[in-house]
Amino acid sequence: MPIKVLAPDVVSKIAAGEVVERPASVVKELIENSLDAGASQVAIEARGGGVNLIRVVDNGMGIAADEVELAFHRYATSKIEGMADLDSISSLGFRGEALPSIAAVAQVEVLTRTHDEVAGTYLELQNGAVVEKGKRGCPQGTRVTVRHLFRNVPARLKFLKSPATESGHISNLVSQYSLAFPEVRFTLIMDGRMALNTPGNGDLRDVLVKVYGLEAAQAMIQVGDQEKDQFPNVWGFVSPPSLARSSRSYLSFFVNCRWVQSRLLSRAVEDAYQGLLMAGKHPIAVLNISLPGQDVDINVHPTKSEVRFRYEPALFVAVQRTVRAALVEQMPVPLVRRQPGVPTLLPEEQPFAKREELPEPSLFTLAKPPLESPLPILRVLGQLSSSYIIAEGPDGLYLIDQHAAHERVLFEKVCAQRAKREVEVQGLLEPLTIEVAPRQEEMLKAGGEILATYGFAIEPFGQRTYLLRTVPALLKGERVAEALVEVLDSLGVEGDPKSWEEKVALSLACHSAVRAGQLLSAEEMRQLVRELELTELPRICPHGRPTMVRFTSSQLEREFGRG
Ligand code: ADP
Ligand code: MG
Repeated sequence: MPIKVLAPDVVSKIAAGEVVERPASVVKELIENSLDAGASQVAIEARGGGVNLIRVVDNGMGIAADEVELAFHRYATSKIEGMADLDSISSLGFRGEALPSIAAVAQVEVLTRTHDEVAGTYLELQNGAVVEKGKRGCPQGTRVTVRHLFRNVPARLKFLKSPATESGHISNLVSQYSLAFPEVRFTLIMDGRMALNTPGNGDLRDVLVKVYGLEAAQAMIQVGDQEKDQFPNVWGFVSPPSLARSSRSYLSFFVNCRWVQSRLLSRAVEDAYQGLLMAGKHPIAVLNISLPGQDVDINVHPTKSEVRFRYEPALFVAVQRTVRAALVEQMPVPLVRRQPGVPTLLPEEQPFAKREELPEPSLFTLAKPPLESPLPILRVLGQLSSSYIIAEGPDGLYLIDQHAAHERVLFEKVCAQRAKREVEVQGLLEPLTIEVAPRQEEMLKAGGEILATYGFAIEPFGQRTYLLRTVPALLKGERVAEALVEVLDSLGVEGDPKSWEEKVALSLACHSAVRAGQLLSAEEMRQLVRELELTELPRICPHGRPTMVRFTSSQLEREFGRG
């Protein structure tokens, strides 16, 4: 399509606002233009945090000589024509605002050539006005150079952070686009140093190596299937729980190849990790989501980084389920490896032997629910230090932490009961009076409804005193007041991103689980291991710690000098 200025009625429908907030915004707009031009190579260079220089060079279709100047007019675009196009935008840009906005706050040079042209077109602008124009030789594609950003807008310049911080924004941005477009070769040179260089071979895992390093990239778990012909389709990579980070900034979402920020999508991913991560830890995720164009509104925000989804609940569920399924399927069991001197825990390279691969089926196999549990059948041998269950599996010896394992069993039980609104409740013969501290009382008032769904019936009874009439049956009548106080305290822990529902379930599971140091009968141990086999995530306790460690048969053979 040729470049044309949009009609006023279309302009009025476009989310208004500032496009160029900081150097990284310029880089973003220029990269998007290169991608829209079908480039397979995009080279980015920045100096002084992007304030001194930003240059983006692509091998895309170029801009025709007679349209170069028009491209710098406000609302001039080749990507949409009329109102109808606004409903299904397939390009990254469509507002026709980037080039004029950048030219208004910097010195800009463009050198571009289309396939059919012999010579390239050169254009230079200062303060938005053309100061030089001419013909020059150049390869097919477009090179945009932006110098002295915000020099004529001191207020903007003052608002910028240090060059190092602005460089950080730029390199994060380029990383995100390289993850969204593995088939495009990106290079980023910062102050003369090669900061990123992706192969452009279409393999997302190869880009992950460049962005997050070899070790993290190898550990990442594949999610979904790009080839699936369905909407919404969710695919990409997420980290195993062992690779968690302390901030949420490692969640990348691309909706129809557009990098977006979305609380909804972040929550869906974090939800999939429920019970797998320690407090304050967050996963790494790179997820692509494809949706029909009309189900996502990208015309919400001037920088197009926020979008609106038509069917939010369905999308949430699709993302949560796809990620959860991948985690459950591929969760490695921690494996004890002898390093010289110190035993250490390492994730196993191969997913664990599946139940079908076992030598012969047993009654347990038949009794399993349809969801395939990744734990093999274990034979209990005994108890160690009144804390660990020793068991034998098809490939080696297992030490199971009895408290952690029981926590996992109870956590899933409580969550499942609550989800079905079938929490087993136990009425107390006589209501119990409990006195709470002011902070606990706050939690009780704020979380009372959630507590009720877990089976706590609590009534006010004077000064910071409450009557407890029913409790979750799980607590079996022992130390119920103490359990409630523990729950309230866990709700009050600040900086813990877990939902209150999850905190209550965790606290109940932890309080009711058998302790370390408690002697168990053979039958009790067998029962616990059987229940653990039936859980969704048997290898990890709800706090994110391992429930078991394994010594493989070959490892034992080696240790005894047989292998
Ligand atoms: P938009 O991308 O919203 O259309 P821009 O101001 O970013 O608006 O660009 C205006 C027009 O200039 C684009 O529609 C496109 O036709 C052309 N253009 C800009 N950059 C490039 C590029 N790197 N390669 C080819 N064409 C480009
Ligand atoms: Mg653009």
